[in-house]
Amino acid sequence: MEAFSVRTGDFVLASSKDSKLSESYGGGAIQTILKTALENKYVDKVLSFQEKKTRYDLSPVIIEQPDQIDSLPLSQFSVYHVSGANNIPKYLQQNLKGAGKIAIVAKPCDVRALVELAKRRQINLDELVVLGEECYGKISPKKVKKTLDEEQLDTSKVAYERIKGNTYSTIVEGENRSYTLGETLDLEGSCKRCAEREPTISDISFLVIEENDKTRTLIHINSEKGLKLLELASAKLNLDRANEEILKHRNREMEQLRDKAEKYKTEQFKIFDKNSEKDRYSYFKKLLENCRKCGMCIKACPICICVDCSVIKKRKEIDPVFYFLLRMGHMGECCVNCGNCDSVCNFLEPGPSLIFHRLGELSKSALNYEPGKNVNESPPRTKKTIKKS
Ligand code: SF4
Ligand code: SF4
Ligand code: SF4
Repeated sequence: MEAFSVRTGDFVLASSKDSKLSESYGGGAIQTILKTALENKYVDKVLSFQEKKTRYDLSPVIIEQPDQIDSLPLSQFSVYHVSGANNIPKYLQQNLKGAGKIAIVAKPCDVRALVELAKRRQINLDELVVLGEECYGKISPKKVKKTLDEEQLDTSKVAYERIKGNTYSTIVEGENRSYTLGETLDLEGSCKRCAEREPTISDISFLVIEENDKTRTLIHINSEKGLKLLELASAKLNLDRANEEILKHRNREMEQLRDKAEKYKTEQFKIFDKNSEKDRYSYFKKLLENCRKCGMCIKACPICICVDCSVIKKRKEIDPVFYFLLRMGHMGECCVNCGNCDSVCNFLEPGPSLIFHRLGELSKSALNYEPGKNVNESPPRTKKTIKKS
């Protein structure tokens, strides 16, 4: 890079030199990086997202032409809301095996799921270029739409939306709306418990920061691949080294989010510890009896990869508690707390992720296995001793 030299580990502030892109999310830095990666054939494809009917209903899309990046509906909301059954890790595992080098924009829980998929040899991380957004958490898009509809705002005319700290803000039809989280709208349960807001293995991680009425993207270069991305895009980006003040602010915010999530998680996990074993059993039996065995949580879970899923096959013959126990036995210890199961489940409150998250956390101490981390580890296996007769 000519303007100043950067190395892995550095933080830079970036925005696009393209006047149109510079008006978009984060000053268009991520779009510019993706576009130049395609133009220079550094990646074969970009796995991104598109609006179906509205911005509250997104689905994954594969982009191969650089110009298509210009119309990418990139926003914090879009990155956070390619979730549920449409999540990026599952789409990648099911549709893009061996499809060449792919760039993706992902949130930290997507990245944790990618790590678990790599451990199961379902994806090859060497073939991926990961741009991971540091995360403030997600709100159900259905609930946002419902709230704005009730206020008779035209949700096809959203100009801005952002979750930051304890607030969700949006501009619809020129009107500013702000909602304190925990009142009309709130973060998903999995997000409130999520203390891992930075993507674990991304090539670049990024955070959009506001400066007066503009936004820029704070980029952390995490790998050689990340450095290459920036080198390719450098002629089309305005780049500055990030100053101490910005970094301190970012670190403080991330720390506050982590502390808050740890406290909330500890509080929620008390359900598993309080009262007698009999009371706990009654509580969970009652909760799980609401399960309709629809199988949507399996479909949405990025760690559930069996093509011939025995839980799905047997679900009509078994009761809901047993259905749930089978799933817990199969992959519970590897849960990355992405909340995709909660997004598709209309019957359990609290959603299924609470139980799986707790199991995933227990595996850290009981099995010495950390879901979403340590790429070279294998998932835990049940040991069986076969006695010779
Ligand atoms: S689970 Fe964590 S990483 Fe995923 S969207 Fe929620 S806060 Fe972000
Ligand atoms: S936990 Fe929810 S999503 Fe999963 S099978 Fe039961 S009802 Fe369906
Ligand atoms: S079980 Fe865990 S990994 Fe699977 S969808 Fe639910 S939260 Fe995500």
